[in-house]
Amino acid sequence: MVTTVILGMLCMHLLCFCVMFLLISTRLNGKKMGMEVFALGNLLLGLAYILQLLGGPAGWGLVSVINHTMTLCAPVAYVIGALRFFDRPTSVWRPLLTLAASYTAAQVLVQFTLGNEARYAMLAGACAALFLAMTVAVLYARQNVAKHLRVEMVVFAVLIGGICILNAAKLGMILSGGLEALDLNTRFQRTFYIYMSFLGTVLPPSVVWLVLRRLNEELRTMATHDPLTLLLNRRGLMDGLEAHFRSRTAGPIYLLIVDIDHFKSINDTHGHKMGDLVICHVAQLLKANARQGDLICRLGGEEFVIVSMDTDKTGALQLAERTRAAIEHSEVSGGNPMRPVRCTVTIGVSDNFTSTEALDSSMQQADAALYRGKASGRNRVEWVNAQ
Ligand code: GH3
Ligand code: MG
Ligand code: MG
Repeated sequence: MVTTVILGMLCMHLLCFCVMFLLISTRLNGKKMGMEVFALGNLLLGLAYILQLLGGPAGWGLVSVINHTMTLCAPVAYVIGALRFFDRPTSVWRPLLTLAASYTAAQVLVQFTLGNEARYAMLAGACAALFLAMTVAVLYARQNVAKHLRVEMVVFAVLIGGICILNAAKLGMILSGGLEALDLNTRFQRTFYIYMSFLGTVLPPSVVWLVLRRLNEELRTMATHDPLTLLLNRRGLMDGLEAHFRSRTAGPIYLLIVDIDHFKSINDTHGHKMGDLVICHVAQLLKANARQGDLICRLGGEEFVIVSMDTDKTGALQLAERTRAAIEHSEVSGGNPMRPVRCTVTIGVSDNFTSTEALDSSMQQADAALYRGKASGRNRVEWVNAQ
């Protein structure tokens, strides 16, 4: 009786959280982060447990076959939802329907060759194997895909590992004690469903927590990056500089202002869209030529800043010259491949500076050098102190 109540509560939890996942997915315009698939997983598991409640003792029949198939498909739906959450686009219906069809066929085969007990053992074994694979996958993701979610991934691995162990234990009990082990009144079954109920309550809010963290990260990225080039914006540059100067070992840095020459005429001749492509192209070349750790920012319009770290005056001037030459010798192929667009840049380089407060004066220095470069014919690098 107690287990029946626990199972009923579990069904309620699963179906309520299914609705919650669906509501969240409708609010996440465009990118649903796998929430609609988590809703499907909860629906499948909730319905499977309802069938179990209605179906009575373990036996052979259509309800039981559907129950087993849904019980196995639900965790696979969670896996697909997790893949989508981590930006791995995965189709939903094809793998689920294939699994449902093949597992239903396997059930019929096992039922008529090995009997009902073997069919229940097969479900427990398949679930144990699936949850083991999920535990390993979560631990792998902790190392590789979701490094920023290490604690969360360990907690998920422990929780999923628990279901794996319980299913393995269930398999052992069926093999040794027959279908009586599945009686809802046994201590094992009560423990099993208390644990499932615990997971049904704890996991959905954890998933919502991950969604909130992801949204928060996206907002932070939007606030610190330029949407066209995905380079840092002015605020991102300030954050990067502050982080750099917080370090005890922070050395002096140089600031380079890069401005595309005669950009207005590129816009006027080839159109604004081509102008945008040129801006993105220059941004790519800035990234390709800068060193790892340098900060690259789009100040606005066709103006960029490179903050060159761990270098000296010669290194900063070499970086500026390398970047200028790379842009001069490249071309942007837009809509018309016969008419690629070429552009050049003028770069002003500041003297070195050692604090965020000095940013404005360094910017003015680099700007003055840039202005001199423009006046001297463009497509050149100017050092602030050059006479
Ligand atoms: P100079 O060689 O002296 O730098 O001349 P310029 O034409 O590059 O400089 P100017 O400041 O006169 O023109 C900048 C132009 O950049 C004007 C503006 O319409 C255009 N612009 C600003 N932001 C964007 C943008 O996001 N996309 C495109 N396509 N054009 C932009
Ligand atoms: Mg310009
Ligand atoms: Mg400009």
